Amino acid sequence: MSEHKEQKFVYDFTEGNRDLKDLLGGKGANLAEMTNLGLPVPPGFTITTEACKVYLASGDEPAALRDEVGAHLDALEKTMGKKLGQADDPLLVSVRSGAKFSMPGMMDTVLNIGLSDKSVQGLAKQSNNERFAWDSYRRLIQMFGKTVLGVDGELFEDALDKAKEAKKVTVDTDLEAADLKKLVTRFKKIVKTEAGRDFPQDAREQMDLAIHAVFDSWNTDRAKLYRRQERIPGDLGTAVNICSMVFGNLGPDSGTGVAFTRDPASGHAGVYGDYLQDAQGEDVVAGIRNTVPLADLENIDKKSYDQLMQIMETLETHYKDLCDIEFTIERGQLWMLQTRVGKRTAAAAFRIATQLVDQGLIDEAEALQRVNGAQLAQLMFPRFDEDAKAEKIARGIAASPGAAVGKAVFDSYTAIKWSRSGEKVILIRRETNPDDLEGMIAAEGILTSRGGKTSHAAVVARGMGKTCVCGAEELEVDTKRRRLTVNGTVIEEGDVVSIDGSTGKVYAGEVPVVPSPVVEYFEGRMHAGADDADELVAAVHRIMAYADRVRRLRVRANADNAEDALRARRFGAQGIGLCRTEHMFLGERREMVERLILADTDEEREQALNTLLPLQKKDFIELFEAMDGLPVTVRLLDPPLHEFLPDITELSVRVALAESRKDANENDLRLLQAVHKLHEQNPMLGLRGVRLGLVIPGLFAMQVRAIAEAAAERKNAKGDPRAEIMIPLVGTVQELEIVKDEADAVIAEVEAATGTNLKLTIGTMIELPRAALTAGQIAEAAQFFSFGTNDLTQTVWGFSRDDVEASFFTAYLEKGIFGVSPFETIDKDGVGSLVRSAVEAGRATRPDLKLGVCGEHGGDPESVHFFHEVGLDYVSCSPFRIPVARLEAGRAAAESKGSDSR
Ligand code: PEP
Ligand code: MG
Repeated sequence: MSEHKEQKFVYDFTEGNRDLKDLLGGKGANLAEMTNLGLPVPPGFTITTEACKVYLASGDEPAALRDEVGAHLDALEKTMGKKLGQADDPLLVSVRSGAKFSMPGMMDTVLNIGLSDKSVQGLAKQSNNERFAWDSYRRLIQMFGKTVLGVDGELFEDALDKAKEAKKVTVDTDLEAADLKKLVTRFKKIVKTEAGRDFPQDAREQMDLAIHAVFDSWNTDRAKLYRRQERIPGDLGTAVNICSMVFGNLGPDSGTGVAFTRDPASGHAGVYGDYLQDAQGEDVVAGIRNTVPLADLENIDKKSYDQLMQIMETLETHYKDLCDIEFTIERGQLWMLQTRVGKRTAAAAFRIATQLVDQGLIDEAEALQRVNGAQLAQLMFPRFDEDAKAEKIARGIAASPGAAVGKAVFDSYTAIKWSRSGEKVILIRRETNPDDLEGMIAAEGILTSRGGKTSHAAVVARGMGKTCVCGAEELEVDTKRRRLTVNGTVIEEGDVVSIDGSTGKVYAGEVPVVPSPVVEYFEGRMHAGADDADELVAAVHRIMAYADRVRRLRVRANADNAEDALRARRFGAQGIGLCRTEHMFLGERREMVERLILADTDEEREQALNTLLPLQKKDFIELFEAMDGLPVTVRLLDPPLHEFLPDITELSVRVALAESRKDANENDLRLLQAVHKLHEQNPMLGLRGVRLGLVIPGLFAMQVRAIAEAAAERKNAKGDPRAEIMIPLVGTVQELEIVKDEADAVIAEVEAATGTNLKLTIGTMIELPRAALTAGQIAEAAQFFSFGTNDLTQTVWGFSRDDVEASFFTAYLEKGIFGVSPFETIDKDGVGSLVRSAVEAGRATRPDLKLGVCGEHGGDPESVHFFHEVGLDYVSCSPFRIPVARLEAGRAAAESKGSDSR
């Protein structure tokens, strides 16, 4: 523990700044920043994430923390002129969680710390409002009981409902001081029975217990789930903010609200937010009472409104970005409780980035960092067809864009259950709370009847990129009977509904979808400068153009036919990085492969190959034409041969039945023999890739001939074919040398016969650990490497790529062994380090070795950054992911340039 002695665990708001998010969490760092900007922030201090880490690791707070908190509390008491819990005029504080990354509603907060049986009287006197004092006290016991002492929150809710029933009122604000006093007695009894202890009357004890509860809330199941979903590391810990209380529930001249410096859905400047009079902050986020638009505050309290507008401008200019804000007005005095760079929709991210460039606040390089590939991918989703006849049943708030269609479900459990069995569902709730998180993840979209743009549903859905319509007030959601009613229409559980998170419209039944304008733009069917181009398309165009200008990585496509190749080209592909030729042997051609496998004699084999040759050649001519002038990497046959043969069980049954009828067919018998011969326990580690080429005479030679003849034909037709021949699954240079010698001979033959110089290059995939480990040797026979990170991940981890994701990966993810599947994002430490060393060894042998990647990782944003960093020449991915790869390659280049010059 001694090393923690010197460490500073507590920072006054005046001591921090926005760059200290690792230490003070986002909320703490920004409260400090606002304090230092001279904005009205209630005084307070922040306990660091380091203190939380010590607590979580050892089960106890660092030894120095108690005294340090004490010293800061003393200072705060001096500033405020009153002591925590002081009987005649208590200082009250809030204890709030705040991690580096925002985790809305996931962790705990306790307000009104410092109230006790004695100090509640003092508060009543000081505020001249007995009702307020007792309401604050009952809120403290309720929140403290639930979050700190682990009492079931329903018990308090039930008691509150009973109090309202007894009084024959419907809202809490109608309960009077005397009722609330009784309720406090009731609440204290609940605490005593359920927690086995009295509600603590000592203010410092309340505070310390609340701090521990906030630390503990880092590791609740829902917080862990959220982090996994958002890829937030599990070891960051949370900071704890202790802030003097200000009250929005002191009457009509008080209130609380949330605001954005511009519209988080469209990016447009304007007044966006919600305000709730006579309420505390939690009331707004929970969506319990309906808020009024922020603009209405101008009529309610013009002075505070004007001040808020000015502060919003200060913050946006200071942060150079959209900020979201929580504020409270206490008897006409405005207080800032929080600000942060606000979450936004994907479309708004692109728009805001270019708007800020136009305003001169940021440059293009910064604009590129303000968007990402995941957002771009989201913008490429289809939207509802506006011309379709659809039965609109309601309109709510467009909280998170997208078009979602699915069966109506009314609770999180059903959402999860149905989606696991493959159904698409829309989760419909009156309002959501953190317990709904799993259901929200499982659903296609979320629909609520209450709450504004800043309600839990809206904030969480936006964060997840999930379609959400909230506050559709016409809907009567009956979760008990599992149905909703709206103007006479009844939607039962299981009925299909469609929700449009871009317009807020809700439809009964399935509405057809149309492609997104961003895809129309990439397809070349909409032009960024044209009249019909919307602002979003223009923003995407500008940012993509900048990314293309700065990126070093080239982007190619994995495509096997001319149609995909042409689309890839329209999307900006600079060649084909992987043409999987096995796809050319399926369908009607499967039989020809069957004949090749069954061939007993050279003659039969040659015949089979000769029927395949012209078909292969035709495929390649089309492909080279589509990609004229750009490189096309053609991979020779890779999969285990049995994939072209009938299923072993089916065929065995067929033959057995035929034999029992005594009419077994000769071909079936031969086929069964071959199937048995080729059957492997581990086919992915068996006769495939280069091994096929070495074992089946003439197979690779036929493919090479088809490539060479196709290239020659294109050349003679004045085309510019740039074929590259790629050998899969090589483990040692000897394999490659044999295949290469054979291929060179075939190419020379074709060149001589056609009078061409084809300039074909021959390279290999690096997709086995041995290949990566001996890359220096392999480079002697290879003109290029393409990392097959799918197989490399499979073989480095010993994970069967076809099985593990469906079997035990969920358990691995839950246990935090990895945050994301290594088949999705490159495992930098393992697979990645092999890639890195193979790059170095390969280049040491052959300095002009061309290097690329064609595994799925080639289109994954995080992996693209890694491939940029290790110095590959290109990434190759499926056509639809090309824009994402282009954007991320640009971001990676801009980022490394930025860090070079720093
Ligand atoms: C790979 O292994 O990464 C690869 C691209 O090849 P395939 O997925 O076809 O095995
Ligand atoms: Mg492979």
